[in-house]
Amino acid sequence: MLKLRPNVSLFNLQPQGHLILQVVSAVFLEELGRSIDCEVTSGSDGSHMPGSYHAQGLAFDFSLRPVIEPPKTRLAAAVARAFGGSGAEVLIPAAAVVVDPTPPGHPAGSVTRQPGPTRAYAAGDFDVLIEDLGGPNEHLHVEWDGKRAAARAGKVWEPKA
Ligand SMILES: [Zn+2]
Repeated sequence: MLKLRPNVSLFNLQPQGHLILQVVSAVFLEELGRSIDCEVTSGSDGSHMPGSYHAQGLAFDFSLRPVIEPPKTRLAAAVARAFGGSGAEVLIPAAAVVVDPTPPGHPAGSVTRQPGPTRAYAAGDFDVLIEDLGGPNEHLHVEWDGKRAAARAGKVWEPKA
């Protein structure tokens, strides 16, 4: 079942964000069954800076805490495939991690604690990431990458302010 934590805001929700909620909850149900909820831990609520995909209603975080089997990495790959990607793990340049510990999809400085590794999975026009794998802030981050989608469609995309 899809559930929202009390802090989760749907302000500014965009159609692609709505699709993220539908697809991720459907994959959780398919992969995990009814005993584990698909819990949204963050939407466009205040923990993200203005201009981020979160603030634009295009990104959501999901709890991975209760997920044991299948492995979280396999669940994330299944989510990525549902968005039309191969689900293959995508390497995040080590240099980027050293220079800026902020995970992809978050503006610099918006995340102050990121002790665990980030894993990314090929997901078409979407970004599917496990952030802080094994750490206290471990979650699945899914966003619609407007810039990549526009580039693939030969269009220009301007984010909402
Ligand atoms: Zn996020």
